[in-house]
Amino acid sequence: MKKIRVRFAPSPTGPLHIGGVRTALYNYLFAKKHDGEMLLRIEDTDSARFVPGAEDYIIESLEWLGIKIDEGVGYGGDHAPYRQSERKAIYRRYVDQLLNNGLAYIAFDTPSELEQKRNEIPNFQYDASTRELMHNSLTMSKHDVSKRIERGEQYVVRIKIEPDQEIKINDLVRGEVIINSSVLDDKVLFKSSDNLPTYHLANVVDDYLMKISHVIRGEEWLPSAPLHLLLYRYLGWENEMPAFAHLSLLLKPDGNGKLSKRDGDRLGFPVFPLDWKDPKSGEIFSGYREAGYFPEAVVNFLALLGWNSGTEQELFSIQELVSLFSLERVSKSGAKFDYEKAKWFNHKYLQLRSNEELAEIYQQYLVVEKDIIEDTEKIIKIISLIKERVNFVTEFWEQSYFFFEASGSYDEKAVKKRWKAESPQQMNQLIAILTNVEKFTAEHTESAVKRWIEENKYGMGAVMNVFRLSIVGELKGPHIFDIIEVLGKEETVRRIQQAINTLQ
Ligand code: GLU
Repeated sequence: MKKIRVRFAPSPTGPLHIGGVRTALYNYLFAKKHDGEMLLRIEDTDSARFVPGAEDYIIESLEWLGIKIDEGVGYGGDHAPYRQSERKAIYRRYVDQLLNNGLAYIAFDTPSELEQKRNEIPNFQYDASTRELMHNSLTMSKHDVSKRIERGEQYVVRIKIEPDQEIKINDLVRGEVIINSSVLDDKVLFKSSDNLPTYHLANVVDDYLMKISHVIRGEEWLPSAPLHLLLYRYLGWENEMPAFAHLSLLLKPDGNGKLSKRDGDRLGFPVFPLDWKDPKSGEIFSGYREAGYFPEAVVNFLALLGWNSGTEQELFSIQELVSLFSLERVSKSGAKFDYEKAKWFNHKYLQLRSNEELAEIYQQYLVVEKDIIEDTEKIIKIISLIKERVNFVTEFWEQSYFFFEASGSYDEKAVKKRWKAESPQQMNQLIAILTNVEKFTAEHTESAVKRWIEENKYGMGAVMNVFRLSIVGELKGPHIFDIIEVLGKEETVRRIQQAINTLQ
């Protein structure tokens, strides 16, 4: 059997969109499932749209997500170079082959001449029905063509498409797609102005030379597939043609249409894997990494946007995804982007991380952001108390700041409602009770405090709320006895005293 080889072939025209990340992921899962290879090819033949930094961004994104590349830009390999702008001589060879075989022709029409034809002829397209009216090597003598080229006139090379041919594509996701060649135009394959091929030719030549077995890409490239098939045929490679699989779109969370980079800003979630700063405008687009996502959560979330395992299971490691993935289970219809689900996945993956590991991350954050240096054991304990309440590491602080500093201020509404005339006296008693607890653990303090409340027939809820208010400053947070165990006796007593002094 032919070795499975897939490629991710982005154009470096900006940051990698999350839909592109999904395409890369599906390629990776498919390749690894079949013990195949994954290539990274940079399609930078459109120099006008080149954006500096985009290539590094793509590589960094894939690395962050654990999508491993076997061969390609940044990794090397037997088919180097993998950057199309460095493969000019290779493409030129095939352009010449097509010209020599009469399957392509040279055209000199200037933009204004083309514009004029578009105005003259309704629904103008450069094809078998119009090419005779144009300035090209089919309508001009050989001599004239050579003279123009010698004079340095710019030209393009166009594919010569035979009309009325049936073109059949067997797409692994969409099934059989049949089109008539008459709807295609004689696409430009090469431009003398920059001596570069266009996307179509470079893409096909490279897929062939790099021995790609499966082209898995976004639905937006489906319209190019018939032309690509013809190119394979014209170049004599039809038997080597890769299989096609066109993935359906990622749709906006609300309404219809393709998820765009503007949707992220509009709805407040990232549509890029990493933060991206536009080198021209300086505008910053936010990324999943910086928003606090774990890469495995993003991978899991994206895998299920357009593929399902056929079971109820939702949490999959990347290894599990590799073993379960199949193109047959990739959906034909678009997948609606569900940001709440992305958060849910991160929550789940955060619970799977050990308290020790999370403590390490949080400790780092505390030092850098809050100038707080704390004992690791204490942080681990805090993490265990608040972990379940957060989706992101970045939410740890708002759930735990009161462990590190007594705010000294008290939620006004809560004070109004809960702090009563008898509260100072009760809190003084509480101080005495807690001072007498020998082993200051949650278990011991809880039983001592509850016994005291019951013996005095105080209202349990009323006293506990005042107690919490004194310690936290608000009526929130984990189990109060767990909190004071972390704080220790001295700090607990100090805070209750401070509350009495401030609020009475
Ligand atoms: N360069 C194209 C892109 O930017 C590649 C399309 C393909 O995979 O053939 O997506």
